[in-house]
Amino acid sequence: MKKLALHWKIIIGMVLGIIWALLSSTMGWSSFTINWIDPFGTIFINLLKLIAVPLVLFSIISGVANIGDPKSLGRMGGKTLLIYLITTVLAITIGLLLVNTFKPGKLIDEQSRIDNRISYEIWASNQGYEIKDGVNYLQDPAFFERAREISDLTKNELEEASVSDKLETATKQKETTPLQPLVDIVPENFFFSLTNNSLMLQIIFFAIFFGVCLLFIPTSKSKPVLDFVDGTMEVFLKMVDLVMQAAPFFVFALLAGVVSKMAGDDIGKVIEIFKGLSWYTLTVLGGLLLMIFVIYPLVLKTFVRNIPYKGFFKAMSPAQTLAFSTSSSAATLPVTMECVENNLGVDKKISSFVLPIGATVNMDGTSLYQAIAVVFLAQMHMIDLTIGQQLIVVITATLASIGSAAVPSAGLVMLIIVLEAVGLNPAWIAIIFPVDRILDMFRTVVNVTGDATVSSIIANGEGMMDYQEAKDPSDTFEVK
Ligand code: ASP
Repeated sequence: MKKLALHWKIIIGMVLGIIWALLSSTMGWSSFTINWIDPFGTIFINLLKLIAVPLVLFSIISGVANIGDPKSLGRMGGKTLLIYLITTVLAITIGLLLVNTFKPGKLIDEQSRIDNRISYEIWASNQGYEIKDGVNYLQDPAFFERAREISDLTKNELEEASVSDKLETATKQKETTPLQPLVDIVPENFFFSLTNNSLMLQIIFFAIFFGVCLLFIPTSKSKPVLDFVDGTMEVFLKMVDLVMQAAPFFVFALLAGVVSKMAGDDIGKVIEIFKGLSWYTLTVLGGLLLMIFVIYPLVLKTFVRNIPYKGFFKAMSPAQTLAFSTSSSAATLPVTMECVENNLGVDKKISSFVLPIGATVNMDGTSLYQAIAVVFLAQMHMIDLTIGQQLIVVITATLASIGSAAVPSAGLVMLIIVLEAVGLNPAWIAIIFPVDRILDMFRTVVNVTGDATVSSIIANGEGMMDYQEAKDPSDTFEVK
């Protein structure tokens, strides 16, 4: 009998997980699912993250040291960062084009938009911002009573909204000097970086530094170190293979948990929330799907040529399905690496360097989503962002996506910074929060697909790519 490919098993796991969650929601069993099934999903993510941190460390050291020549390393590093930057700005531009064309925020009913606008004006005047565009409802006696009601309402809502901790995180980020991001990359204690998931950039910095220094010591000394690093990396990759054997089951638990937490025991509530945000959701989804199915294949066709459309998706399907179910490019990284090396034929020297960096700094899906979200939120508050403000969105969304950790919801938290940069209320992330997880799943697929695309371009440019269509990409994870 022909065996079912791994990504199909993962998809079946996901579908069954969703069906289970919907069933348990209608039967009132959600707390059972959350207590007894969901923890296996958490175990899965923990296992993958457990592998990801040391894998990033060892694979970058090995990648850098195996390239062998600091000059070509510098050239490749520069190229990698540049292409990552270009794809991010491209994604934001597509997001802005879509949201300005379809205007999802203007499709909300007029009365709610006036209310939103009044609440924005109240907030802006509290902040001491001058309101320059549109009607000033606060100055209009006809809206005085409504303004007072809304003022009370917003106070309560803000207190209730589950965003206070997120706002705190963002405020912390804001109170720094312009060079702080650079300072943050250099760890003062490397062991502390290793224990903190959001400090991946510090680990990357250390690994590059270590790898480069390995090149400068005598081979008799560096060889045993490199052998150790390479051997350890093999062990971690074997761990990935083992964990992946159980992926379909884990993914079932993960999705059952995520959907149960969303739906609780009242699925009707979720449908209501989705209805209100449906145009926004559709715009973001449209942009993300465009990236996956049109933009990346076009980029590949232009710059790599020999990877067929279907072949690319076949090769990447295990990583893409995993990105979708875990919403974390960091957790998916070990699988992305195996797919890119074994199925796309990218040389290990390239992938072990380009992919860990990409998982941390290249988030095209996140930046596209942030651009759409900011403009949507402005539209639904009757605020027209000027071209200048939209340019600020391009810059801050690029930085925010670089700064986002590769874990679930990170993009939503960093959205606060983009909102603040254009003078909008950061607490608005609460508005889109209810549909965020589902969008997070899709944007993580884009993030991972983008990294794979860029690593193929770099490898091809360096003559280090050998694509041969894999018969069954899941063989990559076979434990022999
Ligand atoms: N979950 C995304 C990732 O890991 C980041 C985000 O957009 O929230 O790639």
